[in-house]
Amino acid sequence: MKTYIQEKQIALEAAIKAASLCMRVRAEMVGGEALEKGDKSPVTVADFGSQALVCQYIKAVFPYDAIVGEEDSTDLQQADNATTLTKITQFLQSFHPGVSGSTACEWIDSGNGRVSERYWTLDPIDGTKGFLRNDQYAIALALIENGDPKVAVLACPALPLAMNNPKLGTGVLFMAVRGEGASMAPLSVGVDLSKFTPIRVANQANSLNLRFVESVEAGHGDHARQQAIAQAAGITQASLRMDSQAKYGAVARGDAILYLRLPSPKSPDYREKIWDHAAGALIVQEAGGTVTDMHGKPLDFGSSEKMQHNQGVVVSNGAIHAAVIAALNN
Ligand code: AMP
Ligand code: MG
Repeated sequence: MKTYIQEKQIALEAAIKAASLCMRVRAEMVGGEALEKGDKSPVTVADFGSQALVCQYIKAVFPYDAIVGEEDSTDLQQADNATTLTKITQFLQSFHPGVSGSTACEWIDSGNGRVSERYWTLDPIDGTKGFLRNDQYAIALALIENGDPKVAVLACPALPLAMNNPKLGTGVLFMAVRGEGASMAPLSVGVDLSKFTPIRVANQANSLNLRFVESVEAGHGDHARQQAIAQAAGITQASLRMDSQAKYGAVARGDAILYLRLPSPKSPDYREKIWDHAAGALIVQEAGGTVTDMHGKPLDFGSSEKMQHNQGVVVSNGAIHAAVIAALNN
């Protein structure tokens, strides 16, 4: 069996660098200016900087691997966004002294590869809206071979290390390799594999974990239906709303037994993107949970950047999965 030792190491190092850039941007750019993309979603200096750092790092070691990342530099190269490009370049210079704006754009665009037999997928900041409101966000990176996620890293700089003990501080790294289980470590320890502890989904439901997670953004799901379905599956507590794939982390380490993401009534034909799910899905599966779409079908990471054949996403501890899918389809 392949062990992906180098891929795991590089993915962790890349995600940690990107997380430190994001934390600096968040600390220094109060008020969080954002550009608006063609689909009206926000993108910040940190999204671009994070993608540049991760792509540069991966391409240096694996030059032949495609990277399918969320961002591209087209808008940045327009004259009226010159100030944003300058800021990105300045942040990158603290990691790569002397780097130019045009090199920054090249690094960002080295993440515009296609889904292929072996590729990486990157969300440089998943949950940009959460990033902008000082809530949850994640750097999500996964290696996919033949449609199957093999290595996953999720860096969640704002996530409490323990949900019920805020004193322990925030900043969590989740990691998984197919067949080797999932684990987590404090983001602050850097790449030290000895600091990772295995995580498992909650199989014994109790008053702390008998709950579900969902997006903060009403437009990224269907809050009303999600609540009804959770209730049908025996969950009576109010949901825990959080941005980004931190939700997958929450299920993987047993903070919740279910994550529901049903199509928003405002965009019923929306197709989920691979970078919003690949890393989180492997981490939950390796922690013993189950991930499918709302019809019970496996998520398709082998066709294109959009999961054309899937609708919605259901993530659970495994034990309640069938009941949830049944509730969704009757
Ligand atoms: P979350 O933080 O879980 O709310 O998810 C953030 C992600 O939602 C972003 O990275 C977008 O790619 C994705 N997104 C954008 N529009 C939609 C939509 N209509 N339905 C579901 N996800 C969406
Ligand atoms: Mg995202």
